[in-house]
Amino acid sequence: MLTIILKLLLIFLPSSLQSDADSPVLDQDKFEVDNKTIPWEIKDVVVEALAYFPELAGVRIDFEFRDRIKGAVMQAQPRVLTLLVTGKENREYRIKITRELDLGDTILPIEKVPHDALVGWIGHELGHIMDYKERSTANMMHFGMRYIMSNKRLTEAEIAADTYAISCGMGHQIMTVKNFILNQEGFSEEYRSKIRDLYMSPGQILSLQEELENSDG
Ligand SMILES: [Zn+2]
Repeated sequence: MLTIILKLLLIFLPSSLQSDADSPVLDQDKFEVDNKTIPWEIKDVVVEALAYFPELAGVRIDFEFRDRIKGAVMQAQPRVLTLLVTGKENREYRIKITRELDLGDTILPIEKVPHDALVGWIGHELGHIMDYKERSTANMMHFGMRYIMSNKRLTEAEIAADTYAISCGMGHQIMTVKNFILNQEGFSEEYRSKIRDLYMSPGQILSLQEELENSDG
């Protein structure tokens, strides 16, 4: 048990200690529905994305704005205490969302991202939660460690998230957000090359989508 706790601290504490850049934007006014809290600005998109994931009904998820998230625009995480204390069924999650995208010469509030791309972006994060939901706590620990340390695990996690979202019927939106990121020159080259190298490509998304549609009969 002690080793598990130590591993947990290693995995999740660094991000919760980045207090300046990574603390919630203050005075967040939230819409509440079905055990979810959602900033009003993105309520409609989030509710639209959630509709694709009936298995997440009742699951506690807090959507929180951040000024900045290291190396990402959005990030889905289990809440550490619920990982340790509660069972798999009662785990709680949060999805951190960058309040405004810095596109070099423009600042784009997240709600101004084209509709389908934003729905797909949220869908991808919900795909991560579907993936986390299936994992035991011990498995989460090991997975978390490897996620941090290896690009291969990062790729696997991102493929899993996209696959969940696509199999829930979000192929179009996942494709839209991928193209949005890859074609949006304002994003830093570092971020775009991460998306290019470690995430599914538009071509892979399309073939997965076709395969899933065919297997539905
Ligand atoms: Zn992801």
